[in-house]
Amino acid sequence: MQQFIRYLKSGLILLSLSFSTLTLAGSGHTGAHWGYADETGPAHWGDMKSEFSTCKSGKHQSPINIKAAHNASLPAIRFSYKATPLNVVNNGHTIQVNYAPGSHITVAGKQYELLQFHFHSPSEHEINGKPADMVAHLVHKAADGQLAVVAVLIKKGASNPLIEKIWKHMPNHKGEYSKAAIKIDVSDLLPANKAYYHYSGSLTTPPCSEGVNWMVLKNKVDVSPAQVSAFTAIFSKSTRPVQPLNGRQIELSH
Ligand SMILES: [Zn+2]
Repeated sequence: MQQFIRYLKSGLILLSLSFSTLTLAGSGHTGAHWGYADETGPAHWGDMKSEFSTCKSGKHQSPINIKAAHNASLPAIRFSYKATPLNVVNNGHTIQVNYAPGSHITVAGKQYELLQFHFHSPSEHEINGKPADMVAHLVHKAADGQLAVVAVLIKKGASNPLIEKIWKHMPNHKGEYSKAAIKIDVSDLLPANKAYYHYSGSLTTPPCSEGVNWMVLKNKVDVSPAQVSAFTAIFSKSTRPVQPLNGRQIELSH
């Protein structure tokens, strides 16, 4: 009995500890600073704080190595993007372009609003074991809260006119914003052929939340080697390693 009470007490202490962690998180306190190297790198994200635990325990994580995709009759992604005033932020992990409301994609009748897009180099997803030189992640959210990310793989080649416009206003330091009196349209980043790989995954950064509808465009667009270097000069590492598939199916649209 004594032991049982002790057990109960320790349980209560544990409970109160986890509640205080939630409160801290809820009040916007972000104690742990995750990154891509050493003790704060991807291998440690899941242990850094309780709200990052899915990074370690999740079974449907991203990115993945895309191979053995099944041909499937997937619905086309209907892109309805508009130009937006340029609003670029260096969030310490990447260059992110925030998008004004009113742009969205529709997939199988479900609408997802475009929130922002950002970059990684090399690409996080791999195709048959090979990453692309860079990727743009276009992050969307549906009215029910579900996230959909369209990944545009980018390879070294010709200079990219949209990236040229963004890089001209790229903030060099964490927390810096840059707003310019020009408009950009992320439609300019899309390849002509919109065939895509589809699977269910997660955010590739903490808290690694799952249930993300991933659509990785099969066809790559160009970026110049100098444009890649301009990004990697600020963000030498911006890529989470590929995660186990754990039986998930990958589909390829026609
Ligand atoms: Zn991303």
